[in-house]
Amino acid sequence: MRFDTLVKNGTVVSDTGIGPLDIGIKDGKFAALLAPGTQAEAAKVIDAKGRHVFPGLIDAHIHFGFAEPITEYTSETIYAAQGGFTTVIGFFLNNEAYGDVYAREQAHAKPRVFVDYAFHFSTASEQHITELPSYVKDYGATSFKYFMNFKGEEGRYLGLDGTDDGYLFELLKAAAKVNAVVVLHTENIEIVSRIRREMQAAGKSTLYDWSQSKPAFTEAESCVRAMMFAEHFGATIYIPHLSTRMALDEVRKWRKRYNRVYVETCPHYLTHDENAKDGSIGKANPPFRTADDVEAMWEGLADGSIDVVASDHVPRKKATKDKPIWQASQGFPGTATILPVLLSEGYHKGRLSLERIAEVVTSRVADIFDLPQKGRIQVGLDADLAIVDLNQTREVIAAELGSFSDYSLYDGWKLKGWPRMTIVRGTTIMDEGKIVGPAGYGRYIARTPTPNRKV
Ligand SMILES: [Zn+2]
Repeated sequence: MRFDTLVKNGTVVSDTGIGPLDIGIKDGKFAALLAPGTQAEAAKVIDAKGRHVFPGLIDAHIHFGFAEPITEYTSETIYAAQGGFTTVIGFFLNNEAYGDVYAREQAHAKPRVFVDYAFHFSTASEQHITELPSYVKDYGATSFKYFMNFKGEEGRYLGLDGTDDGYLFELLKAAAKVNAVVVLHTENIEIVSRIRREMQAAGKSTLYDWSQSKPAFTEAESCVRAMMFAEHFGATIYIPHLSTRMALDEVRKWRKRYNRVYVETCPHYLTHDENAKDGSIGKANPPFRTADDVEAMWEGLADGSIDVVASDHVPRKKATKDKPIWQASQGFPGTATILPVLLSEGYHKGRLSLERIAEVVTSRVADIFDLPQKGRIQVGLDADLAIVDLNQTREVIAAELGSFSDYSLYDGWKLKGWPRMTIVRGTTIMDEGKIVGPAGYGRYIARTPTPNRKV
């Protein structure tokens, strides 16, 4: 067989092992996995000597802008490719029916994206529940977000009032019927709001105070409630950005009884605690937690109780952060630095194996979010690769990365282990940090619910 591309001399990393392997690619798919040095003809040869070859990474948690320009589909998928990501799943948050939203977003996205993409739809109205089966069938959305915290006054400023636990109950029922995943922001906002008012009245105003306004139990208690409701219908839930030991322990306990529960954490809960001196830059929801919670996230990744690491990427400008803590925007950009953080702070510090790192950003994400063509280096699957230099040490400089945002939580950090090349369906999109692939190359992935997702 003559390949379009041959990636040779690299060390292939997967969730099941590490070893030298040459990779033949044809028509955008993996066509052969060959013993190193096997004679093979190819139009293009990529020498991966000294590099580790990961399946293309998948970021399951991206926000394409909040009232920011639509060109973010360009900038944020460039940023993703710079981080070794070949697929991203973005959230829609809307109060309209999704038919119009979907058409509008696709018109913006299609000519601009550099990597493959899918969408989670956020649910915020009764209509969203009624129409949920058609979102699966017509738009290939198989995962739906619900914010347990956008209740009452917290929801009203987003035009999302009217939802409560009863709404979540109906949503889980509808999702279970079509085997979709419900992604749940778990937070008891009724309690948090009262704590916050008290703290504001007392003049509290630091990043530490932001953390203290949301005690661990307000996350853990919501997780329990969500798992209890999900069990009732046999629904599958995914808890994004889990941040506390207390919540993780509840999930561990609960899974013995009902295990259709997946857990994600984010890089910043692995690197920052409540004593971080980042000011408003470090404001995220959930907030940074205690040093012990940070330790718990590493433990959860190592023992398998945390399934996924995703960014919760928010590409706003730094100006939205230059405000007092209670008014500053939440979240920060994160996709491009996920792998360097996991390698630098996880692998190089002996906390995580390369196999586990591969699993939490590739195969596990593909299995949970119905992406059977993605996440593994196997003959017949999409030829998505991240070619990584484990030993490159590089300082994070936001200006060198392509996001619409103009800062990074990790600015000035020297991280060890960076992707040097990103290949999407056989086409090189990123080479040495530079984008070399065409805009509009990325493809929308219409998903189908997987009958029995691995738990
Ligand atoms: Zn988010």
